[in-house]
Amino acid sequence: MKKDCIFCKITKGESPAEFIYKNDDFIVFRDIKPSAPIHLLIVPIFSDHHIDSINHLKEEDEKMIGKLFLLANCIAREQGLDKSGYKLLFNVGRGGGQIIDHLHLHLLGGFK
Ligand code: 5GP
Ligand code: ZN
Repeated sequence: MKKDCIFCKITKGESPAEFIYKNDDFIVFRDIKPSAPIHLLIVPIFSDHHIDSINHLKEEDEKMIGKLFLLANCIAREQGLDKSGYKLLFNVGRGGGQIIDHLHLHLLGGFK
C-alpha cells in the first residue's frame, strides 16, 4: 500500500469504484473515464504490494504478471468479448501516457 495512491485506496475500499471482480491478488473495476464501451482496469494488489509500472517489475513479479494475463483472458470471456476481440494496454511513465502510478492493465472492448 502506497500512501496517496488512488488505486491502493480503491483496493482498501477507501475510495469508491464500480467493481467487476476481486480476489486476494487483483481487483478489476470500470475506468471512471471510459475510452471504449467496455473499459476495465485490472489492478494487481499482490501481497499488498504496490508496483508503479511495468518499468518497475522485478524477477519476483513473474508469477503475478502471468496471473494478470490469465485474469484478463477470463474477464474478457466473462464480459462476452472473447469472440468480438478486445485491446489490452499498459501505459508506462508520463511519456507513455500513464497518469496513475500503480501498475494496471487496461482492457478495452465493445467497439462497433
Ligand atoms: P493510465 O493513464 O495511468 O494508464 O490510466 C489511468 C486510468 O485510470 C485512466 O483511464 C483514468 O480514467 C482512470 N482513473 C483515474 N482515476 C480514477 C478513479 O478514481 N477511479 C476509476 N475508476 N478510474 C480512474
Ligand atoms: Zn497503489
